[in-house]
Amino acid sequence: MDVFTAQRRNFMSSTANTLLLFGATGDLAQRMLLPSLCALHSDGLLEPDMRIVGTARSEMTDSEFRNFARGALEKFMPANRRGGTADFLNRLSYQQLDVKDPAGFSALAEKVGGPGGQLAIFLSTAPSLFETTIKGLQTAGLTGEGSRISLEKPLGVDLASSCEINDAVAEAFPESRIFRIDHYLGKETVQNLIALRFANVMFEPLWNSSYIEHVQITVGETVGLESRVDFYDEAGALRDMVQNHMLQLLALVAMEPPTSFDASAVRDEKVKVLRALRPIGPGESVTGQYRGGAVGGAIVPGYDEELGRGSNTETFVALKAHVDNWRWKGVPFYLRTGKRMPRRVTEIVVQFRPIPHSIFNGTRTVPNRLVIGIQPEENITLSLMAKVPGLDREGMSLRSVPLEISMPDAFTGQHRRIAYERLLLDLIECDQTLFVRRDEVEAQWNWIDAIRGEWKKEGLTPKSYTAGSWGPSAAIALTERDGVSWHE
Ligand code: NAP
Repeated sequence: MDVFTAQRRNFMSSTANTLLLFGATGDLAQRMLLPSLCALHSDGLLEPDMRIVGTARSEMTDSEFRNFARGALEKFMPANRRGGTADFLNRLSYQQLDVKDPAGFSALAEKVGGPGGQLAIFLSTAPSLFETTIKGLQTAGLTGEGSRISLEKPLGVDLASSCEINDAVAEAFPESRIFRIDHYLGKETVQNLIALRFANVMFEPLWNSSYIEHVQITVGETVGLESRVDFYDEAGALRDMVQNHMLQLLALVAMEPPTSFDASAVRDEKVKVLRALRPIGPGESVTGQYRGGAVGGAIVPGYDEELGRGSNTETFVALKAHVDNWRWKGVPFYLRTGKRMPRRVTEIVVQFRPIPHSIFNGTRTVPNRLVIGIQPEENITLSLMAKVPGLDREGMSLRSVPLEISMPDAFTGQHRRIAYERLLLDLIECDQTLFVRRDEVEAQWNWIDAIRGEWKKEGLTPKSYTAGSWGPSAAIALTERDGVSWHE
């Protein structure tokens, strides 16, 4: 056993006895983190003596924080999952702290029981606060061997700023105790992609350029700008969606089989794919920004109207990517994401090549296609050619028919967990498999920075598209040029 594995095994036996939640009064804490922790508690998955300490600038006593948390659970948790709420609230306490005030950290350290415990820290605050927070934690002795830290996206706006954040975290925590969140990895269907590829024998032999013609990954949102106005206008679709979630999906589709479902093995394979991404060339990207239109029957304003000013930020991006290695030589990966799309959808489409020789004279065969629905529908559909019933006097009649697995139907009785339940439990139990390693984040930024550099060089500005459409017509041309249609 190598030293790293031995250290990790040792650490895995160290389930946290305290969870320290920064940004405990924020939107993410209310909508996702507190409900997820309550669900884990109700299902008996948290150690009975594990405490949860919330912290933020707002003044609150322990009991006021419990009332605040109760309000969040009532608002954001389905009634049938709120059974253990009263007991769960007893785990909670609160410490007021402005992380910019270094002196305040000693009171926080006292609240969490001082240095030396098994401490899971979750930073649900703006990344601009990470560095001061980590320094404060370090001074207060809360970064010792029993501590691990989890960071929410966005980890920087480019490679340089991401390195700055990563360097600041690395001052206090080794990589084996840093948990970078990409909440897509906590989704059941995303993990199911690993099961589909590596727990079945029939896909892997075909999973290469000899049998796969192209791959499509679409993440469509129906919403517009929503509340994070300044953040989004700074970021745009490329940095908000492609840099993290979409590249993680691409890496899971394209990676070589890992030797085990283990943090190092899986992340070693993902990073190889991310490093093999060919820089996007001229004509391989399209950006767009929505104008007023209709989504789901409702009239909606354009991006600039929502923003209250003109902007060059892209709310849509489509890319033709290539993974430069033996397996994927010549197989385009078309990526597309946008706001104000006709429907909310995250899906991966694997398009297989045509059969090499048809024995069905004159009857067209449609190449097989695998569609993996991630949200809102969690399903897997494999299209197969089948014989249309009949006496076939003119030759066999064929049609493409779907072989469909709906995950909720296949696993009735198992409740569907939200991604943060899985990720929080993994953080508490110290399993890094579904968290993003530093080299992955940096490979992702490297590729994204090059795209933005290319856009700047070409003077590319977003093309208009009507809200409720699938983006500018140039996005359709991007694939049609290759004889490929987006899956809709
Ligand atoms: P938010 O609603 O603005 O909450 C920010 C939290 O930070 C609040 O609890 C705020 O509480 C606290 N805070 C702000 N300044 C502070 C300071 N100086 N010292 C101590 N605490 C401070 O943000 P959010 O939406 O929850 O997002 C949190 C993080 O998650 C961000 O990095 C965001 O990008 C990321 N994220 C959020 C979502 C989402 O759906 N919301 C999704 C993905 C990623 P006080 O005002 O009481 O101090």
